[in-house]
Amino acid sequence: MKVLVTGGIGYIGSHTCIAMIEAGIEPIILDNLSNSKLAVLDRIETLTSIRPVFYQGDVRDQDKLDLIFSEHEISSVIHFAGLKSVGESVAKPLEYFDNNVNGSLVLARSMRKAGVKSIVFSSSATVYGDPKVVPISENSPTGATTNPYGRSKYIVEQCFSDLFAAEPLWSITLLRYFNPVGAHPSGLIGEDPQGMPNNLMPFIAQVAVGRRDFLAVFGDDYDTVDGTGVRDYIHVMDVAAGHIAALKIVGEKAGLHIYNLGTGQGRSVLEMLDAFSLACGKTLPYQILPRRAGDIAQCWASTEKAQQELDWHATRTLNEMAADTWNWQSKNPQGYSDC
Ligand code: NAD
Ligand code: UDP
Repeated sequence: MKVLVTGGIGYIGSHTCIAMIEAGIEPIILDNLSNSKLAVLDRIETLTSIRPVFYQGDVRDQDKLDLIFSEHEISSVIHFAGLKSVGESVAKPLEYFDNNVNGSLVLARSMRKAGVKSIVFSSSATVYGDPKVVPISENSPTGATTNPYGRSKYIVEQCFSDLFAAEPLWSITLLRYFNPVGAHPSGLIGEDPQGMPNNLMPFIAQVAVGRRDFLAVFGDDYDTVDGTGVRDYIHVMDVAAGHIAALKIVGEKAGLHIYNLGTGQGRSVLEMLDAFSLACGKTLPYQILPRRAGDIAQCWASTEKAQQELDWHATRTLNEMAADTWNWQSKNPQGYSDC
């Protein structure tokens, strides 16, 4: 079975491609390299002995997509490609809507032309906005997003829901990731943010490896276990496994399938820092700063639906998330720039 993976050499895409190859699924990758490096392909080959077919190109380029669908018998698409920085999206909303929303529409049109009607889309817990109740189930309200990135994910969810309503033979799976962290246990692939990391785990990893002086903790006055923000961090290998489960179990069933991918457990910023200090064997410096604009206090997933319907749940522990991130970061202090 061949699956087109847009954004397949990015952080989550590369881990998912490895899991696909291990599951006997052939990834055909399309990526415009806007946030990734070709070295990832070498690493995938080292780990799996298979070099995936790779097309350098943009998901908004319908001719390129049409060509890929004509050259391969594709059964499904996993659509990772897009921009993902909340802060940048506030400064560049048009770029975010063009990449994330327009990209998804061009892709869906090309799929329809080729007769491919199965897609797994990378959505995000951000579509839930600031939740009134935790854990967050798939039926919780969506749409009260607080930034253009979140809105772009919500809009794509709406577009795909309307597409399914109009053409019910499609299989559309919306996977709402919580906070993916960690790396492949080999330390050969991992998250490689360009410039200053926006997210907590890569920032802590860069403090540990000496690229940053200290972690700025954004607020310690939330109504949470220790006052710092709480999120549902999930190992990227578990996220990858969630895609395999989705492809196999609902990928061929017509329907609009929506699942949270989380662990069901919330962790505070200071808990993450402690876990990382344990993994790297040193106490990491931090300073408490004011809250970051737009941040919510806490969120974590209800995992029941994915467990029941996909027979999938996250299995990796917080210590594995920290240890695997540290293994990747310490072996590749400058990320893929070291290659
Ligand atoms: P990433 O930036 O590492 O990977 C995205 C990949 O897509 C990159 O390789 C990039 O070069 C490529 N890309 C971007 N725009 C493209 C375009 N127009 N055409 C072709 N390729 C393009 O990001 P990631 O962390 O792997 O995230 C993958 C997806 O999951 C994204 O859609 C993101 O919004 C979503 N998501 C990520 C997180 C997270 O915390 N990492 C959480 C929720 C949802
Ligand atoms: N955070 C922090 N310092 C950082 C980055 C993040 O204190 O340098 C906090 C942030 O305020 C939030 C949590 O860590 O409470 C997770 O932030 P991240 O950006 O990784 O995920 P998101 O907020 O998008 O879920």
